[in-house]
Amino acid sequence: MTTAIIDCRFCIDTNMPAGRDEDMGELFERCPVCTQPCPRCDGIAVYPANYNTPFELAADLAVLRLAPVFCMGCTGVVALAPLAAWEDLP
Ligand SMILES: [Zn+2]
Ligand SMILES: [Zn+2]
Repeated sequence: MTTAIIDCRFCIDTNMPAGRDEDMGELFERCPVCTQPCPRCDGIAVYPANYNTPFELAADLAVLRLAPVFCMGCTGVVALAPLAAWEDLP
């Protein structure tokens, strides 16, 4: 017999602490124990805990000349890309 509610001892609501990043702060990842890995990024995406929306994250990273690369499957951040500023363009 299975129940719909999984009481996982590794995470809180499928969010598992994933350390911190010097640019993005505290990070969470999808718990690999009780969730299926995202088929697009294989579960490598992380979720910055300090930001409620991707736009806030993008705005803060823009100051550092970085741009978050989001996974289209799970909306997590899979990479940080250097942001080409308009003034750098020829
Ligand atoms: Zn879990
Ligand atoms: Zn993903």
